[in-house]
Amino acid sequence: MTLRSRPLAVVAGLAVVGMLATAARSTPKHEPAPQQAASNPTADLLVELIRANTSNPPGNTGSVASLLAPKFKALGFEVDIVQTPDSGKAHFIARLRGNGSKRPVLIAAHADVVGVEREKWTVDPFAGVMKDGYVFGRGALDFKGGMAVFARAAMMLAERKVPLDRDVIFLAEADEESGPYSTTWLASQAWQKIDCEFALNEGGWIMKGPNGRVRYVSISTADKSAIPIILTAKGTSTHASMPRPDNAIFALARALAKISAYETPLFLTPSTRKFFQTLAKTSQQPMSGYFADLLGTDSARVKRADREISKDPLLHALMRNTLAPVLMNAGFRGNVIPGSAEATINARLIPGAKAEDVVRDLKRVIGDSTIDVRASNTIPWPQGLAPSSENTDLYRALETSARQQFSAEVTPYLFQAGTDAPTWRSRGIPVYGIYPYPIDAEDLTRMHGNDERVSIEGLQQGTEMIYKTLIDVAGKRE
Ligand SMILES: [Zn+2]
Repeated sequence: MTLRSRPLAVVAGLAVVGMLATAARSTPKHEPAPQQAASNPTADLLVELIRANTSNPPGNTGSVASLLAPKFKALGFEVDIVQTPDSGKAHFIARLRGNGSKRPVLIAAHADVVGVEREKWTVDPFAGVMKDGYVFGRGALDFKGGMAVFARAAMMLAERKVPLDRDVIFLAEADEESGPYSTTWLASQAWQKIDCEFALNEGGWIMKGPNGRVRYVSISTADKSAIPIILTAKGTSTHASMPRPDNAIFALARALAKISAYETPLFLTPSTRKFFQTLAKTSQQPMSGYFADLLGTDSARVKRADREISKDPLLHALMRNTLAPVLMNAGFRGNVIPGSAEATINARLIPGAKAEDVVRDLKRVIGDSTIDVRASNTIPWPQGLAPSSENTDLYRALETSARQQFSAEVTPYLFQAGTDAPTWRSRGIPVYGIYPYPIDAEDLTRMHGNDERVSIEGLQQGTEMIYKTLIDVAGKRE
């Protein structure tokens, strides 16, 4: 996914509310929270993970499995490496047994990373360089940093011999960024190994404001889905010296021009509404006013708010289905007018939106019955998955520990891109997403970009937050 720094500029603010009262619950038996140590085991583990180059393609996640296996085994985890038909590519599963009185909790992180433009990096992207308070390297944010946090939090349960009511399953996944042996494949091969009551994954943000303090924590409860929509224009294939009015390339260009001038309607889900309520509380004027207006009923104000908020591409994408032309294909030589021209539109759908409705909308906007518009049948993610409920022990545990750790507002969130969560959500299992470390706009620009980095202090804070979440959700009740 490509992220830009601009999104955060417009949502900048600093209002941070005090800790909210949390419902009284029985306290699980556990050791005191970890103290800040001189060395940081999460950062050290991240360095090792970055050094195992899992750029995908080819995505050799077997190296991560071999790195993690002895560490988890030594702590008493049951370790399983699920080899894929692609040599070098494996899923890694480590299970810490509880007493079985509750169903397992899963913490999942993809072990593959996207490739690098090496010449644009100022440090070796696969050396795990630590400097200026950061760990640098491909995957530092997405998602080896998260993997290190999840792994260390689970290991701490074992190190401190925390009695558990349920199994804690740690999963390092293959082929999340691309490729055929993703968790969809894993689920088809070994579902019982990753079956659970609920799961944590990548997704929402612990967002810092310009003053360096955490402004809000968003926990994703749903992802947008991606549907390729193919436009095909037909014309007469002939000698380029005798053009005709039915040129397929011109017809396709006219259709694309109409789509470029079209904006899809506002589509706010209940979690998106809560997210914008949080932004209204934690932002400064005039943006806080626009966020509030967006949720109001005055259509002129809603329209103006939409226009202003939409200047931020991330927020724009949360509010509607989006349409992005990504591929074009026409012609095969310089002196032939081709008989057809094709464009692929990458449509990103809000949960609840239907591909057929988007296709119908596009046909109306194009207004040319000679252009064929259809959704590709190679749909990468299941459509129409309901968001995961916020009414579960895991959501509440993460919400509570995030609020305690960062003294910030916590809100559910619709993730603007896709993750592996549909593997579980499509089976009715709630999945919650978080990048478990505070980040700012500058960090975000580097995700899938150059000089990717994560703050060492953030890794430590995230590990404490996830450890407390696991204690809360899986620790044995008195
Ligand atoms: Zn990722």
